[in-house]
This record gives sequence, C-alpha cells and structure tokens, in this order.
Amino acid sequence: MDRRTLLAGGGTFLVAAALTRDAHGRGRSVPVTPEDSRFMQLAIDQAKDGDYPFGAIIVRDGKVLALGRNSTKRSHDPTAHAEMVAIRAFLEGHEPDDFKEATIYASGEPCPMCMGAILWCGFKRVVYAASIAELSTKIEQIDVRAWQIANAAPFASIEISSGLLAGNAMRLFSTEKE
Ligand SMILES: [Zn+2]
Repeated sequence: MDRRTLLAGGGTFLVAAALTRDAHGRGRSVPVTPEDSRFMQLAIDQAKDGDYPFGAIIVRDGKVLALGRNSTKRSHDPTAHAEMVAIRAFLEGHEPDDFKEATIYASGEPCPMCMGAILWCGFKRVVYAASIAELSTKIEQIDVRAWQIANAAPFASIEISSGLLAGNAMRLFSTEKE
C-alpha cells in the first residue's frame, strides 16, 4: 500500500489498523523508567514556553541533544509542532543516522504528521505524556493514535511508552490563558 492509497482509503485503513494491531505490532509498547520521568519533565518545561503547550526533547545515551516547543504562531508555520521543531534542531548538529539510537519525549501524543516524521527519521523510541483523547478535551486533534501510524509502517520498528506525567502535561492547558 503506498501513501496515496492510505490517504484515499483513510476510513478503511483505520479499521484495518485497529484489527491488525496485535498481529503486526510494529509499535511495541514498553514500560517507562525513572530516567524517563526526568526527561519528560524537560519536555513539559519546553511546553510551558510553546505557542500552544506542547514540548519535545530528543535524547540519546542519556544526553539531551535537541529541544522543541510548539512555534506555530511565532514562526507562522502550522507544521511547527514541538516534535518537528526538535527534529529540525537535532539535524542542525547530527546526521539522520543518529536518530536510530535516539528517543523522543513529547508532552502530547504525536499527531499523524509528527508520528509520520518520527517513523521516517527512524527513532528507536517515543515516549509521550498526554494521549490524543486527553488532548482532545482541550484542543483540536486528529483522532488517529500514534500506534496506528506505527503499525501502518512496514519499515518501522519503534518502542512506544505512553501516559508518563500526563497530568503535568494536561495542567498546562488549564493555566494557558491565565
Ligand atoms: Zn504534531
């Protein structure tokens, strides 16, 4: 199935992805570690300065190598989601191959655009805080889960951890306008 087929057959694709989730399992669920909490808090700290409260950081070998926060308003770029900003920052100092051993921490579950980018980059792992369902209560979201994107990518093998510090990430939406 090529990308155009996926776009054209969106509804069918979602049902198929849900049914085949366990059969393919390209997005493998893994538990979080204490170190993950520290890095996630850094991603959430980035979110505090975002145009919308979303932040992301890229970590490899225990080192933070790139930061990103939602910059859609200040950069006049609707694609400037935190994950995209972090990926572009990473590429300023690293080669694409360097993504292979890297983890991206995101304060919100990556949207289809960002999850697609994460898979194309070949990240080893993604860890996110608030889920799309949680985020949808505060801000518009495309209702496709990160694991659905991962499972639809035959070339990808990525570990996914979810829900870490989700309460901290969601609280930023309550304080956004204060
Ligand atoms: Zn996104």
